[in-house]
Amino acid sequence: MNRTDFLRTLAGGALTAGALANHTFAGNSGTILVETAPFKQNPLPYDFAALEPSIDKMTMEIHYGKHHAAYVKNLNDAVKGTEFEKKSLEEIIKSAGKAPAAIRNNGGGHWNHTFFWEVMGPKKGNGPTGAVSDAINAQFGSLDKFKEEFGKAATTRFGSGWAWLVAKGGKLSVGSTPNQDNPLMDVSELKGTPILGLDVWEHAYYLHYQNKRPDYIKAFWDVVNWEKVAKNMKKA
Ligand code: FE
Repeated sequence: MNRTDFLRTLAGGALTAGALANHTFAGNSGTILVETAPFKQNPLPYDFAALEPSIDKMTMEIHYGKHHAAYVKNLNDAVKGTEFEKKSLEEIIKSAGKAPAAIRNNGGGHWNHTFFWEVMGPKKGNGPTGAVSDAINAQFGSLDKFKEEFGKAATTRFGSGWAWLVAKGGKLSVGSTPNQDNPLMDVSELKGTPILGLDVWEHAYYLHYQNKRPDYIKAFWDVVNWEKVAKNMKKA
């Protein structure tokens, strides 16, 4: 962990010494794909309060410190002594259909949350620019139309799941996945490289928004890290 990440982690508070010990490297969703067990949580790239008022501090503390941490712990427990112990997270995700439910769910949970933290950031008041803006306009007509389609995918996902913007074959599309599945999984109906994702599990918004998932989705646009989205698209 570099000094900045360490300070950020400290500034975030709420983390136990055990969680700190896990923070041995600053990475991104690309690097965790090549990770093998024991899997670790990357440091949150900002303070727990950095996404307020869109996402409140306590939700972030619990979401990162309890929910995401539990996926990582449960994934490590589930792969122990199995053929999956030596596999990278990428291999696990891409062949999730062959994995026991605990590995599919917790492997997806680890990947999805790592990805999610990185596509958000403190509000800068800007939208997509350059290639991302062009691609969104080409595919959806306008940024507003894209937000409408993405919002629809996020609102209509029944129960727990994720909404995604994915790239496939040079085209963007929007959709959703149930539970902790994601578009990289062999079992996913929605396929492609995730460019942007939104957690629509109740644990992601219930403390602040209660049953008003559409309000949470609307507030999410204020904290999208479009630079990261652009990087994701470039790698797709
Ligand atoms: Fe979550």
